[in-house]
Amino acid sequence: MPSSGGEFQQRWRADSLGGTSVRGGTEEASGVSQKRKTRRARAATAQKLRATGSRKDVGGRVHLTLLRDPASGREGVVLKKPIFQEAWQNEIATGAANTAHALFRGQPTLDRAVALAENAMAATSRLADGLLSRAPAGAVACKDGCDHCCYQSVGVTPPEALAIAAHLRRSLTESEVADVALHISNCHERTRDLTAEERFSPEYPCPFLKAGSCSIYEVRPLSCRGMNSLDANECSARLRDPEARAAFVENGEGGHSFMEPIRGFHAVSAGIQLALAELYGLDMRPLELTAAMQLLLNGPDTLASEWLQGQRSLEAARGGDNSDTPGIGELTGTVAANKAGDP
Ligand code: SF4
Repeated sequence: MPSSGGEFQQRWRADSLGGTSVRGGTEEASGVSQKRKTRRARAATAQKLRATGSRKDVGGRVHLTLLRDPASGREGVVLKKPIFQEAWQNEIATGAANTAHALFRGQPTLDRAVALAENAMAATSRLADGLLSRAPAGAVACKDGCDHCCYQSVGVTPPEALAIAAHLRRSLTESEVADVALHISNCHERTRDLTAEERFSPEYPCPFLKAGSCSIYEVRPLSCRGMNSLDANECSARLRDPEARAAFVENGEGGHSFMEPIRGFHAVSAGIQLALAELYGLDMRPLELTAAMQLLLNGPDTLASEWLQGQRSLEAARGGDNSDTPGIGELTGTVAANKAGDP
C-alpha cells in the first residue's frame, strides 16, 4: 500500500538504531569527552532497558531466545516478543536471524560474515522485487539511470561493509582498488563532519555513484534495495531545489514511497543485527557507508578480524545514533518494544 513518508529519514533509519544526526567518522574512540559520552550512552541504555522491562537471559540475549533440539542438537532462534507491528516483518526478522546463526555455525569468520551479507542482500532484493511487483502498474517511478536517492548518508551493518570491501578486492585489480580507496578518502574528507541533513545534497553523491549508476550494484547495501519512490519529479525537486529540500529535511514533506519494501529490508537488517549481537557478541551497531569503507579500505588490515573477535574496531564509522545496543526501537514499523509492564 503506498504511503507517504520521508525517504531520507527512512534510508538512514533503515540501519540506524536511533538519532538522525549523522557525523560519520567523527566519533573517535579516544578522548575524554568521547569516553564520557560513551559512559553516558551506556548508562542511558541500561536505564532504558530497566525502565522498559527488558531482560537479558543467561546468554545475554534481550530479543532472541535460543532453542536447541535435544535429539538432533540443532539450534534455532525465536523472537521473545514481536519487534515489528506487522507479523510478516517479525517472520522475516526471525528467518534472517536463523540464517545468520546457521551460516556462522558457532564461529564468526570473515568469509561467513561476507556470505551472510550477500545472502541478506539477495533475500532483500527478492523480497523488495516481489513487493514492488504488487504495486499498481506505473506507480513506482524508479528506473535505470535515476539516482536522486544516492546523495545522502547510507546506513550499513558491518557485514554489508565487509561484503562490499571483499567484492571490490575480488573484482578489481590492486591499482583499481587503490583508486577506489583514494576516491573514498576524498569523499570522506568532504562529508565526515556533516550532519545527515547537510549531507542530503547534490554536492555529496555516494562515492559509489558513477555516471548515474551504482558501481557496486551487486553488493549495494540493504537500504538501497528497499528504497523506492512514487514520484521521480518529487525526488528531483527535493534534492535539487533548496526550498523543497529544506522542507523535506525538516518534516519529510515531498517524499512518497511504497513502504512495504522499506519495511522488508528493515526486518532483514534487524534479524541479522540481533543474531550477531546477541548470539555472537559482535558489535552490530550500524555504520555510515562512506566512513565504513574509509576504514576498511584505508585503515589497518586488522580491523575486520578485531571486529570478528567482538571488538569495537569499526566504531569510528558509526552513524549519528548514540545508542549502545543493537536495539530496534527506531526501525520503521517496530512496536514500542518492551514497554514498561511487559514481562
Ligand atoms: S551504494 Fe549504490 S545504490 Fe546505494 S547510494 Fe551508493 S550509488 Fe546509490
